Amino acid sequence: MILLKVENLHASYGPVPALFGVNLELAAGEVLALMGRNGMGKTTTVKAICRMIPANGGLSFDGQDLHRMPSHAVARLGLGLVPEGRRCFRDLTVEENLIAAARRGEWTLQRVTALFPPLEARRAQRAASLSGGEQQMLAIGRALMTNPRLLILDEATEGLAPIVRQEIWSAITAIKQETGMAILLIDKSLRELAQVADRAVILGRGKTVWSGAMTYVTADVARDYVGI
Ligand code: ATP
Repeated sequence: MILLKVENLHASYGPVPALFGVNLELAAGEVLALMGRNGMGKTTTVKAICRMIPANGGLSFDGQDLHRMPSHAVARLGLGLVPEGRRCFRDLTVEENLIAAARRGEWTLQRVTALFPPLEARRAQRAASLSGGEQQMLAIGRALMTNPRLLILDEATEGLAPIVRQEIWSAITAIKQETGMAILLIDKSLRELAQVADRAVILGRGKTVWSGAMTYVTADVARDYVGI
């Protein structure tokens, strides 16, 4: 079943066009890597999907037209976004941050803190006092607490120490294996993406230039389209 369908998506920042024809599909239970060089439109695509910026073109989630919805309604439909920059409420504790995001479902405070043990240890601490890696875990935990059907992670491992990145990748793998949640991943680590993603869509200058099974993202494809 196709969960997310994006067809010929166009978007601009004021007068400046940023997307010129993004196409992608994501099935329930599938992990899709959205790849491309810097500035090619990955974050803009995610913002358009979540209705944070206006866009034109086909945009549907579970058969419902997203263009008619404000971003909070899109979130309620089941899109959980972890935006670039790991946003959380800095003055609230870890537990308060997680509870504030909660919606009914299998992801509870207990399950999220079991997935990310450092959050269990810091439950009563203010988010502002967490390390960058812990804040990223909290941001992912907040998205999981909304019990989404699609989890979108925008550069979730960027700027983190290798050991913390590994913890995040292990958590993503566990989410995939244990829940079958659909995941859209933006990341630059080809090796880790290859281990968890089923398919890839590559953007070049605001449009889809390549799509296929992750196993076909060879070194040549990565060099030609992603620059890695
Ligand atoms: P990166 O990997 O560097 O995050 P990206 O593929 O996510 O890149 P976007 O951030 O979506 O790329 O940027 C696509 C284009 O839109 C770029 O040309 C960028 O300069 C432009 N852009 C992004 N955000 C804004 C903004 N708030 N205002 C104006 N232009 C923007």
